[in-house]
Amino acid sequence: MNVYDSDRMQSILNAKGFRSEPELRKADVILINTCSIRDKSEHKVLSLLGELKGLKQKDPKKVIAISGCVGQRMGRTLLQRVPHLDLVLGPDAIDRVAELIESVVDRGERLVEAKFDTEGRKYSQPCLVNRAKPSEFLTIMKGCDHFCTYCIVPFVRGREKSRSIEEIIQDVKNLVAKGTQEVTFLGQNINTYGKGTGQKLSELIEAANKVEGLKRIRYLTSHPRDLGEDLITQFGTVEKLCPQLHLPFQSGSNRILKAMARLYTQELYLNKIELLRKACPDIALSTDVIVGFPGETEEDFEQTLKVLSEVKFSSAFMFKYSPRPGTKAMDLGEEVCESVKEERLARAQRVVYSQIELENLKYRNQIIPVLIESMDKKKKFFSGRTTHSKLVHVMNVGEASVGKIIDVEITDSNVSCLKGFYVGAPKTSIKLTANSGGVESGISSSVSAPLD
Ligand code: SF4
Repeated sequence: MNVYDSDRMQSILNAKGFRSEPELRKADVILINTCSIRDKSEHKVLSLLGELKGLKQKDPKKVIAISGCVGQRMGRTLLQRVPHLDLVLGPDAIDRVAELIESVVDRGERLVEAKFDTEGRKYSQPCLVNRAKPSEFLTIMKGCDHFCTYCIVPFVRGREKSRSIEEIIQDVKNLVAKGTQEVTFLGQNINTYGKGTGQKLSELIEAANKVEGLKRIRYLTSHPRDLGEDLITQFGTVEKLCPQLHLPFQSGSNRILKAMARLYTQELYLNKIELLRKACPDIALSTDVIVGFPGETEEDFEQTLKVLSEVKFSSAFMFKYSPRPGTKAMDLGEEVCESVKEERLARAQRVVYSQIELENLKYRNQIIPVLIESMDKKKKFFSGRTTHSKLVHVMNVGEASVGKIIDVEITDSNVSCLKGFYVGAPKTSIKLTANSGGVESGISSSVSAPLD
């Protein structure tokens, strides 16, 4: 969502005549879009701000601005704490970024704009289509009505509000007209999209499926309790909906799930997995896991390992619990010590990574369609994703492949990716390093045949 917000601010600023300047030293305005989901990301922001002090001293006219969730959470405090900071804006003010920067410049005042848009359940925010990537994110709602006890989102993104299906489909059509093949709809708790507006996520998926030229649809993030039957069934019936879902379970222990206020049990979660696999037997599932939540015992953690072992996820984002100010979990006490958190994280990672490595092995010698999205910096290979969201590095295509869905024969794999060749072109052997997303030398330049 932050990537989407950053792109949006860039489009707004470009339309107002601002130009991107990658060198901080030369930029008239430095805008940092921030995330506050974990303590570590907040620390990084504060440390980056510290590093910018010298630049501001050398050039006092330079405008330094913070946007996003850290801005929302800290507001005026941030301005007081960082004297060389000029502007703080929350996520609901990003559409006003150009006007706010201009106010700082014109009036020479330091500003904070961190109010929530609290009116009603609907909002409008048509996508600003400058350039369309082969795969695009599209925010369809904002905020969250759940209050999971560890999560800061409801405090920095407000209550749920949704855009209309009509506006979103128009965005999809505009993106497709500019070359987009795949859209990923974004929402903090996307299953409840349309709450209070009379529209539903399954209706949006149906409507997107009818958009001519669009090839793939995905969405995230789902909540196990709110993932309804209509959405589950669609994985077996809606042609363009990719067989892939991110469904965070966070903990396998019912006691910890209750303390997290997640509103489901391990049994309910596993039941949803069963229904998903019934609707779409080869669905790729990914998840989020928190280890070391306050009060988590070894027995609780073993329940998490049990779920990981049973479900066999295609990928998992696993984190040590990070206390966030203002959340209820901060007051629970019973903190799990850092070394135990680290040890549990490593154990969870071992289970998941070995499963993924085995799963990726099964792709070898298969020919699968890959949407090519980008080229590596050294132009050695191109990367894209399968419908199951597996990252694939393709060795023998040229720039013309970007934005196309091509058949790729998988010749090698590791825990992080698959590697292969565009079918029909000559092959040579490639050597992989364990756990690396990169490809070692040993690839003959003679295999760099352009797609066209
Ligand atoms: S559902 Fe997700 S975004 Fe909402 S409070 Fe829970 S963890 Fe945070």
